[in-house]
Amino acid sequence: MKTIITRFPPSPTGHLHVGGARTALFNWLYARHKKGKFVLRIEDTDAARSTQASVDAIFEALEWLGIDWDEGPYFQSRRYPIYQEYIDKLIQTGHAYYCTCSPERLESMRAKAMANGEKPKYDGTCRDKDLPKPENAVVRFKVPLTGTTVLEDVIKGNIVFQNDELDDFIIARSDGSPTYNFVVVVDDITMQINTIIRGDDHVMNTPKQILLYQALDAPLPVFGHVPMVLGKDRSRLSKRHGATSVTAYRDMGFLPQAVVNYLVRLGWSYGDQEFFTTDDLIEKFSLKNIGRAAGIFDQEKLTALNADHIQATPPETLARLLVPFLEKQGIHAEPGEFLVKIVKTLAQRSKTLEEMALAAIFYFAETITYEEKAARKFLKPAARQPLQFLMDALSAIETFTEENLENAFKSVMEKTGLKLGKIAQPVRVALTGKTASPGIFEITEIIGKEKVIQRLKQAVTYIEQTAEEE
Ligand code: GLU
Repeated sequence: MKTIITRFPPSPTGHLHVGGARTALFNWLYARHKKGKFVLRIEDTDAARSTQASVDAIFEALEWLGIDWDEGPYFQSRRYPIYQEYIDKLIQTGHAYYCTCSPERLESMRAKAMANGEKPKYDGTCRDKDLPKPENAVVRFKVPLTGTTVLEDVIKGNIVFQNDELDDFIIARSDGSPTYNFVVVVDDITMQINTIIRGDDHVMNTPKQILLYQALDAPLPVFGHVPMVLGKDRSRLSKRHGATSVTAYRDMGFLPQAVVNYLVRLGWSYGDQEFFTTDDLIEKFSLKNIGRAAGIFDQEKLTALNADHIQATPPETLARLLVPFLEKQGIHAEPGEFLVKIVKTLAQRSKTLEEMALAAIFYFAETITYEEKAARKFLKPAARQPLQFLMDALSAIETFTEENLENAFKSVMEKTGLKLGKIAQPVRVALTGKTASPGIFEITEIIGKEKVIQRLKQAVTYIEQTAEEE
């Protein structure tokens, strides 16, 4: 059986976009599923738009997603001698020719065609001149004048192109630099790529590329063009729809496996299954289950899936991942036992790591800042006594356990005749500043005796002071 070799060839002109990441994932998963090879190639021939910062950003995003490559990164900008060899080969075999038509002539030809409502096309003036290498000439590819070129697309089915609609396109500019469609084919041939999955914005390039393969006597790869990723309004995904770069999702506290899961499901399916681990995807991925409909990117759905992945992640891992998000809140924490306990109380309640970090702040606070509404509602004179009683009961406990904490609360219920709910809410506000938090016994145990008593004291003082002011 032949080895499947796929590739991802980003142009380094910005961040890795979610649409590009999905293309990378399809190729990577297919290679991994088939125990084949995945090649990374940087298409940086557009020197004006390519930047090192973009190259770095793309590597960073791929690494974060867990996409590794077996070969490369190749850089097109370092492969010019190879391209030159292939240009020469095409000229020698009569598949390409030098063209000396002046830009002015080409421009007037274009203008005339446009005025007649026709598709601009090179008229073939130099096609059969067999010019030797002139100065400042471009090199054009000789497209067959008749017949058809068929793209057998594994996703879209067969697409037939009339050759006479195609131009004798330029493969090398007058400065000798090779053009896009040509270098892609030379790279894919020399890198032995045999399966190409890419966005369907490239469909119109494919007949030209197929003709180049044929002229170079190279076997055609399998092509599959995936529909674009769209926003909820079905227009092409852009900044208007929210963050579009992969690393923005990392920075917002998404887990890479959730982003991977979500992006792959935008265009690929396996029955009704929504939740996949990356290993699961590798096992189940196939080209035949890539759909023909455009994927609609919906940040809310991604967020919901992220919550599921958070819950499926071991708390020890989450604790480690949470550290930088706490750091952003000015909290320096070690990913040890204390943080693992905190994470266990928050994992069910947090959709992102950022949300989890915000929810965790109260565990670390020196003093508690009360939400205004919470304090007004629960830190009232009536709460002073139960808080005081609880403080006394907790002071008498050596080490907090769920059982003796329950007993302490019970003793306060007995002394005051209040139900647990009536006592728990002011305590919650005293300990967290908010009206919603994980279970009261859990947080009391984690915050620990010294800090709990200090916070209850702070609340009692607060009640006394606000009572005096009124
Ligand atoms: N460099 C192209 C892009 O970023 C990819 C071309 C291809 O997949 O053939 O869109």
